[in-house]
Amino acid sequence: MIRHPLQLAGETVLPRAATRRPTEAPGLVDSFGRRHNNLRISVTDRCNLRCTYCMPEEVTFRDKRELLSFEEIATFVEVAASLGVNKVRLTGGEPLMRKELHKLVRLLVAIAGIDDLGLTTNGLLLADHAAELFDAGLRRLNVSLDTLNPDRFRALTRREGLDRVLAGLAEAKRVGFAPIKVNAVALRGFAEHDVVPLAQYCRAHGFELRFIEYMPIGADSWERDKVFFAHEILDLINREVATVVPVPHDPSAPAQDYAYTDGGGIVGVIASVSRPFCHHCNRLRLTADGKLRNCLFALEETDVKAYLRATPPQRSAIATALRESVWAKWEGHEINAATFIKPQRTMHAIGG
Ligand code: SF4
Repeated sequence: MIRHPLQLAGETVLPRAATRRPTEAPGLVDSFGRRHNNLRISVTDRCNLRCTYCMPEEVTFRDKRELLSFEEIATFVEVAASLGVNKVRLTGGEPLMRKELHKLVRLLVAIAGIDDLGLTTNGLLLADHAAELFDAGLRRLNVSLDTLNPDRFRALTRREGLDRVLAGLAEAKRVGFAPIKVNAVALRGFAEHDVVPLAQYCRAHGFELRFIEYMPIGADSWERDKVFFAHEILDLINREVATVVPVPHDPSAPAQDYAYTDGGGIVGVIASVSRPFCHHCNRLRLTADGKLRNCLFALEETDVKAYLRATPPQRSAIATALRESVWAKWEGHEINAATFIKPQRTMHAIGG
């Protein structure tokens, strides 16, 4: 019997840890007892691709003056770090469209408590910036790539550029990034043709491949029929690439990883639709225009830009906003429920 939208067969509903927010609880803990230490920061809503499952062809990007400056982002991260955040991921839109991003990397790696800084990019500009990002202290990269076929690349992204993404991956490897993860959204009609070539390509180059189930967070009208599910991806890999076995899983990590039994590396699946992982979620998001989101699918946001732009920045107000946003966090997305409401903001303005 399914009692709750998030509850899959055999899963339990997350009990509330407390009904009233303990004012001075250490760290960022929500009412379900989940501790939040992972912050995703969108540094721009601009992108040089138009992926069909993410954004519309025609889009009006935010005025640059609306975007947080590098110093404002660093101030926010300092406050978040003082509340236990130690992992930061830079996203977009396409983060490398933000000029001199390596300067932000340098600011963030210098913040006490931040011991894991990553970047998610579509790779188009990576070959030009990999070295300066590495020199600035960045070490972890996720590159979004759904296909190795130029025609399907064009059909999915509505742009050219596959060769530049592959050149970006090669350059990132040359300058020393490790691990390099490749994120591939598995869309029915494409994934059937792309899962195997992508898996073989990543095995050959030592990249860790992650397939992501297609989620209702883009500009298009989401259809469950278009989701190519985790079990289908794994069937294809086991049948046509090599046998994989699950590896021990950090429950707060979105991806369930699998190891090739022939020693050919790791492949993972982020099964947000068929195997939601909200019960162990530790993630928060800051948008490029200064809105705090306690979930990718959040329907409400907290504006912290005014606190950051005050002179001096209102750090205690930012800390309170962080605590209250986390405390108010729901149990998880409701993709599998009739009550699901798609957020107004689309993926390119939230960040991966
Ligand atoms: S959907 Fe929201 S609650 Fe669930 S894992 Fe993603 S960010 Fe966390």
